Amino acid sequence: MLEKTALYLKLVAYVLNIIYEELGRATRMAWVRRRVRWFGPPAPLSRDRNIVIVGASFAGNRVAQLLTSCLPPNSPYKVIAIEPNTHFQFSWVLPRLCVVEGHEHKAFIPYGGNVHDQPAGVLRWVRDRVMGVTESSVQLKESGEIIPYDILVIATGSWVETGLPSRVNVTDKRQGMELMRNMQQKIKAADTVVVVGGGAAGVEIATDAQNLYPNKKIILVHSREAVMNRFGQGLRKTALEGLQSLGVEVILQDRLVQTVPGSGTILLKSGREIQCDLVLDCTSQRPSSALISQLSPASISPSGHLRVKPTLQLADDRFPNIYACGDVADTKTPNPNARSAMRQASIVAENILSITTGGKPRHKYENSWSDGVIKLTLGLTRSVTHYGDGKSELLFPGTETDEALMSAMCWSRMGQKPFEDPYMN
Ligand SMILES: Cc1cc2nc3c(=O)[nH]c(=O)nc-3n(C[C@H](O)[C@H](O)[C@H](O)COP(=O)(O)OP(=O)(O)OC[C@H]3O[C@@H](n4cnc5c(N)ncnc54)[C@H](O)[C@@H]3O)c2cc1C
Repeated sequence: MLEKTALYLKLVAYVLNIIYEELGRATRMAWVRRRVRWFGPPAPLSRDRNIVIVGASFAGNRVAQLLTSCLPPNSPYKVIAIEPNTHFQFSWVLPRLCVVEGHEHKAFIPYGGNVHDQPAGVLRWVRDRVMGVTESSVQLKESGEIIPYDILVIATGSWVETGLPSRVNVTDKRQGMELMRNMQQKIKAADTVVVVGGGAAGVEIATDAQNLYPNKKIILVHSREAVMNRFGQGLRKTALEGLQSLGVEVILQDRLVQTVPGSGTILLKSGREIQCDLVLDCTSQRPSSALISQLSPASISPSGHLRVKPTLQLADDRFPNIYACGDVADTKTPNPNARSAMRQASIVAENILSITTGGKPRHKYENSWSDGVIKLTLGLTRSVTHYGDGKSELLFPGTETDEALMSAMCWSRMGQKPFEDPYMN
C-alpha cells in the first residue's frame, strides 16, 4: 500500500516536472524569437559552423527542434538534419493500422511543423541517408555530398529486417501506405495467423486482429515465460488475460525455427508444427549503429548499441564532439521508448547549446522509472496504461474510441493540422 502511494506521489512529481521543463523551454524559445524580432537575424552566411543530426525521428527531430529554436540569433552555428524518410513515421500506431483499414495515411506526418528554418539560415533539411562518417564529415548516399561537421548527433534509432508491422522500411509515404494496405489484406484473407514476439507490437497486433476477425485463428508465439516480460507482473498478467479473453492462442517459451517454403507450415523449437497462412514477425529490433563501426569500433557494445558517457557524448575520448541519443544509444534504459529518446534528445541539445556559447557539456542523462510508462492496447477498444518503478506498479484500464489511436495527437505535437498533407495532393 505504502509503495503504491509512493508511486502515485512520484507520478504527480513527474507530471509537474514535465510542465516545469516545458515552461522553461517555451520561455527560452520566446526570448530567442524576441531577440530576432528586435535585432534582426544575422546574415545566413555567417552561420558557417555545422551541427549535423543524422536521423530525424523522436530523438533527432527533437534535437533539431530545440536547437533551431534556442540557438542565439547571432550564433555562427546552423543545424543540418539528414533523414531519408519523406515523413515522420509514427511507429506507435503501425501494428493497429496494419489491421484496421482506412487510416494508413495517419502514420506518416509531414516534417516542418515544429522544426523551421527560423531565423533564416539556422536549418538545412536534407532528404538523404548518411552512408559514411569520418572524424570531420558525413557522406550522403544519394547525392554523394560530403558535409563537414563541428558537432555530430547520431539519432539513427533501431531497425528490423522484416519491416511491418514494427517498422515501415521504405522512405516514401505512398509506398509505406501501400505496404500497410497489403498487410491488412493478407490478414483479412488468412484463416490462421501466427504472430511471433510477445512484446508490445506482438500483443497489440494479435489482439487487434482477433478482435476485428473473431473467426480467425490467431496464435502468438513468444520465447519467454510471459508476454510483456520486460514489465511488471501486473502488466504481464493483464496482457495475457487480454489476449486469451479474445481467443488468441498464446504459446510461451517456444520459438519459430523454420518456415517450410510453399507448405504453409512453420516449425517451432519444441517440435510443434503449425499450419498457417501468414506469419507476422514482431521480434526485437536492432540498433542502427553501423555508421560508427569504422570510426570507433570500441564504441559499439555487444548488443550493437553505441556506448555513451552520461553527457551522451560517444564513449570515445577522441570524439568529444559526437553525441548519440534515442534507441541507438546504450543508456541502460530498461524499456527504451519515445519518451526516453526525447529526454535524451533534450540533454544532447542542452549540451550542444552550452558548447556553442563557450561552455562545457555538463548535462547528464539518468534513467528514470517514468521512462517505462506504457499504454498497451488489448483489442480495438480496450487499453491499459502501466506505471512501474521496479518495486510497485499501477495499472489504469482505459477505453479507446479512436481507431487511429494517438495519431491526431502526434500530428498536433509535430506542429501539423491532423491530417492535412499537401504531399498527398
Ligand atoms: C511498433 C512499435 C510501437 C511502439 N510504441 C511505442 C509507444 O506506444 N510509446 C513509446 O514511447 N514508444 C513506443 N515505441 C518505441 C519508439 O518508437 C522508439 O523508442 C522511438 O522510435 C525511438 O526513436 P529514435 O529517434 O531513437 O529512433 P527511430 O524512431 O528508430 O528513428 C531513427 C531515424 O533515423 C533515420 N536513420 C536511420 N539511419 C539513417 C542514416 N544512415 N542516415 C539518415 N537517417 C537515418 C531513420 O530513417 C529514422 O527516421 C514503439 C516502437 C515500435 C516499433
